[in-house]
Amino acid sequence: MPPIARVRYRKGMSMSLGEKMKPVLEARLTALKRGVADIDQTLREPDSQDFEERATENEGDEVLEDLGKAALSEIAQIESALERIAAGTYGECVTCGAEIAPARLEAVPHAAQCIKCAS
Ligand SMILES: [Zn+2]
Repeated sequence: MPPIARVRYRKGMSMSLGEKMKPVLEARLTALKRGVADIDQTLREPDSQDFEERATENEGDEVLEDLGKAALSEIAQIESALERIAAGTYGECVTCGAEIAPARLEAVPHAAQCIKCAS
């Protein structure tokens, strides 16, 4: 076997943390975007003519809007994590440059800061 093939094989076997987390982040991003689309759809539905029903719907709309905002902020964080993977800086704290603990990235794959800077 030519040596180059062995090198390629070995390189493929040792994935970087960013490469490992990319599918996780992408799956989460897809799910969040779908959720936001559902929320938009629900919020666009016309309000009921009945006053009491409308009041209940408005309360529900507020909860949905909060959920939507939370989802949008997570989407933004995931997109910037994907950019860091592409740039090769994933896993480094954006504030102090220290390595973010792998356990933290497994719990929060889009974490941009080490535990020290985040707390
Ligand atoms: Zn830090």
